[in-house]
Amino acid sequence: MRQARRGGKGNTMRKFKTESKKLLDLMINSIYTNREIFLRELVSNASDAADKLYFKSLTDKSVKLSKDDLVINLSFDKEARTITVSDNGIGMTDEELEKNLGTIAHSDSLEFKTAEALAAEQANSATNKDGSKKKPTKKQEQQMAANDAIDIIGQFGVGFYSAFMVASKVRVVTRSYASDQAYQWESDGVEGYQISPAERSTHGTDVILTIKPNTDEDDYDTFLSEAGLRSLVSRYSNYVRYPIRMEVTKSRQVPKPEDAGEDYVPEWEDYTEVETLNSMVPIWKRRKSEVKKDEYNEFYKGQFHDFVDPVRTISVHAEGAISYDVLMFIPGQRPWDLYSKDYEKGLQLYSSNVLIMEKCDQLLPDHYNFVRGIVDSQDLSLNISRETLQHNSQLRAIASKIEKKITSELATLCKNDRETYEQFFENFGRSIKFGIYASYGAAKSELGGLLLFHSAKLGKMVTLDEYLEEMPDGQGAIYYAAGDQLGRLEKTPLVTSVLSRGYDVLLCTQDIDEFCLGSMQTYGKGGATEGALEFKNVAGGDLGLDTEADKTAKETAEKEHEDLFAAMKEALGGMVSKVSVSSLLADAPATITTEGPISLEMERLLASMPDAPDDFHTPRVLELNTRHPVFQVLVQAQKDGDTQKVERYAKLLYDQALLVEGMPIDDPVAFASAVADLMV
Ligand code: ADP
Repeated sequence: MRQARRGGKGNTMRKFKTESKKLLDLMINSIYTNREIFLRELVSNASDAADKLYFKSLTDKSVKLSKDDLVINLSFDKEARTITVSDNGIGMTDEELEKNLGTIAHSDSLEFKTAEALAAEQANSATNKDGSKKKPTKKQEQQMAANDAIDIIGQFGVGFYSAFMVASKVRVVTRSYASDQAYQWESDGVEGYQISPAERSTHGTDVILTIKPNTDEDDYDTFLSEAGLRSLVSRYSNYVRYPIRMEVTKSRQVPKPEDAGEDYVPEWEDYTEVETLNSMVPIWKRRKSEVKKDEYNEFYKGQFHDFVDPVRTISVHAEGAISYDVLMFIPGQRPWDLYSKDYEKGLQLYSSNVLIMEKCDQLLPDHYNFVRGIVDSQDLSLNISRETLQHNSQLRAIASKIEKKITSELATLCKNDRETYEQFFENFGRSIKFGIYASYGAAKSELGGLLLFHSAKLGKMVTLDEYLEEMPDGQGAIYYAAGDQLGRLEKTPLVTSVLSRGYDVLLCTQDIDEFCLGSMQTYGKGGATEGALEFKNVAGGDLGLDTEADKTAKETAEKEHEDLFAAMKEALGGMVSKVSVSSLLADAPATITTEGPISLEMERLLASMPDAPDDFHTPRVLELNTRHPVFQVLVQAQKDGDTQKVERYAKLLYDQALLVEGMPIDDPVAFASAVADLMV
């Protein structure tokens, strides 16, 4: 869908895709305060390019290289207002240039909301106390747009384009390691870009920024100074593993001439020297107590291309039979592709400070697929391959330590900083739930304590242990209800009825929830099997809440109205397996429960899957409230032999109960006209 065709190597302007253009616009013009991160982004791209070439050299004999050859050079020209970031990494061909820098967000099929749409949405959802719409101020509007830009930047990693926050023009001159021809890409970040042949003596990439002129609000000149660039590197890129070099000016005393007299005045002269600006000490080798939080955060963002600080930094240093250092981060936001099939989990694997694998998936269990980080062990062999890793017992030992450490850190976070934990859980709770489900419940003793669910009683998120602690004496099960919307779920008749008996109900709104609880079956304090209680769906039939008196009343009623129930079942023509009496319902005339392991909510989910059979129904039971006046009307109709009325009311009650549960009804038109008939 690119608007200009590739192929011609001439100077034709190629246009940015519409979404890309909007995003660029927003990013450049929004009040995104943290402009200075552009350098971190360009340096980490340069460092990645060096890594890529280094990897190539391991397998491709034609690439002659040692790790020490790879460097990043930084320079600036105050008069020309340029900053140049150069690397001698892998470089790009013209096709790669087009693919990598021609579209923001890379994937052509990716449809994401434009930031304007998001901002409008937010503005629309703000309401005053009286329920009327709040009109955002101009400033709020700008702020919202900026937040959304940051969100999108974060989600899609538009790292390179951050250059346009400080530059009016960006020129990229690059030569692929596999080609003799260099190309340049040039753009003002507004309409489009041009790609044309260029000169470059070796492989690698130069990114040349023409820095914007100063304005009243923004001082861009600070970037065009040695001190400015030096401080950006030490702040944002200190731990980059390749030297970041810059020619710096120093001054020194001129040696005193031998024939200098008594009145000699020392002279000074300026000279230039190439200096390495970054420390390059691996941050993961340092003790956590020695490193500032800010340093970790900046390292994380540079290393893992994120724009948001991590919510937790975990460091482990182990010495003994096998020594290793681990530095891990729990991201502050969910990567946009976390639940797509292309997402790859894994930690970066280093051996003595040399990267040997970008994503080593054996180091992380699936339920912690969101964790990012680094493992460095001198005890691992350098030329380890993916196949041999599978059987590497040292690696397995490290992985098991890592998993335990993550679990304990999350448990601590949950206990000490609930707000952050809830935010974490909203982002990544699904992975943990899925982990329990995929283990057929076996992982519940380890992971069950990390789960959060919405408590209907307390109106907030609680852990399963908190649920058990709050429970009144004699409660025999952990009650939950499942549906897609919290607001509806908490009002359903069965939830309110169980609540009115003093029992809390966990409201499950995520599709994986019921499968997760189903696989756990029971949960006991701290994950213990002893004294564990069964999970019960409030809509799953007998909840074991009936007293002896309830049971007797139910039996009597079912016997007494046997004919009525049979007639109603008949009227519903196979939609229900049974019509019975509910002793739970308080205000509602009827409800629907299910028999067997599949709930209505699960049925709804299963039906939405690609190859679901159309006519699949879990056995449904229509439960009636005998204390409700409608029931008396039905009893009377049956007595009068008014079969038509019994039939109509049975259908109405059934449809009504489905609607309350958020389930579709078979024939909405018939339902509506039956209600209209009743009205007149
Ligand atoms: P990201 O780095 O998150 O993938 P960017 O927008 O920063 O996103 O970069 C897009 C792509 O352009 C990179 O994935 C990489 O393939 C390519 N690229 C950017 N800078 C360089 C560079 N200095 N050398 C080689 N390739 C680069």
